[in-house]
Amino acid sequence: MKRIYLDYAATTPLDPRVAKTMRGFESEIYGNPSSVHREGQVARAKIDFARTEIARFINAKSQEVVFTSGATEANNLAIQGVINHVIRYSKIKPHVITTKLEHQSVYNLIKDLEKRGVIEATFVSPDKNGLINAQEIINAVKDNTVLVSVIFVSNEIGTILPIREIGQTLKELKPKTYNLKSVYHIDAVQAAKFYNCNVEKLGCDLLTLSAHKLYGPKGIGSLYIKSGLKMQNLMIGGSQEYGRRPGTQNTSGIVGFAKAVELLGSLENRQKRSEKIFVLRDLLIKGLSKIQKAELNGPVGETRVADNVSFTFHNVDQDALMTALDLAGIAASTGSACVSGSSEPSHVIQALGKVNTGQASTIRFTLGSSTSAMDIKSVIKIVSKIISELSK
Ligand code: PMP
Repeated sequence: MKRIYLDYAATTPLDPRVAKTMRGFESEIYGNPSSVHREGQVARAKIDFARTEIARFINAKSQEVVFTSGATEANNLAIQGVINHVIRYSKIKPHVITTKLEHQSVYNLIKDLEKRGVIEATFVSPDKNGLINAQEIINAVKDNTVLVSVIFVSNEIGTILPIREIGQTLKELKPKTYNLKSVYHIDAVQAAKFYNCNVEKLGCDLLTLSAHKLYGPKGIGSLYIKSGLKMQNLMIGGSQEYGRRPGTQNTSGIVGFAKAVELLGSLENRQKRSEKIFVLRDLLIKGLSKIQKAELNGPVGETRVADNVSFTFHNVDQDALMTALDLAGIAASTGSACVSGSSEPSHVIQALGKVNTGQASTIRFTLGSSTSAMDIKSVIKIVSKIISELSK
């Protein structure tokens, strides 16, 4: 049976050209990039080259790119780094603004800091279509707001947030009592495949990326840290990554990450890729909308990312649906892959404020490079049949 992989937001397959770049890399270039001998310096040069590639992609300086073990770490470094600096050097209780559409690595972290009384936090809610207005974020700014952390594209329901507008308006806000400018962090993990991540245009101070969402390897990501930004490190150790992130670098991961970014190509290329997937996405949305009691989560049209389709099917058992899909050859996910296994709707789905009477299953399909119109037609047929059987 042909498998149909529709979980590209959870992770993408490694591009064979990235695999080729990484294959045997660490047997050949094995030096520690911090060593001063030739073996070390050869590895160092590869990292420097990769860093330049990532910096070019986001229009930053090389020394503003810090490699991490992935986006979870980058998000933690960004948020804890800024907050811990404020706590250490000032007497104010920091206030953080974020949204209810964030990935767990942002949402759960800020919730935890709030619960422990370390910070005050505002979680801006989406409307029932999953949209958030830039002005709602701006309206939440207080005298003690030290950080605004916003997801670029929702990994669960595909909303594209007005991040440029937020960045622009934040820049224009005059600091009040504490003469404090809020630091602006963007989690661009799900956006980088398709959209412009130019940090100057976005007006951000911190930006998170992850390679395995871009047909690159797992376990490697980056955090853009604007020059001069004051923040604490998460870990204490050596002086790698400009002293921002200690630990010997994952050299093969870093070169694979840079290759994946290179392969994304120009903005026009990304735009073209997005337009192609957009058509398939709408075909799937149209087909699944015909199923009785199927409800689309998230916006329609241009405010929804090209590759995301999320539906709630009422009166259908989630585990039974996931198992049936898998047995029928379809790899999809329950909302977000990170919360799969939990029968509770995720905080994102809950934030849409829909009233669920009885059982309901939320399934996320995310499309990618190998998705075809044939796949989409088969998926519509298979899902319709499974739902009709399960809701009998
Ligand atoms: N942010 C977003 C928006 C994501 O989708 C993910 C992965 N699901 C992460 C952060 C975490 O990425 P990583 O797996 O690299 O830690």
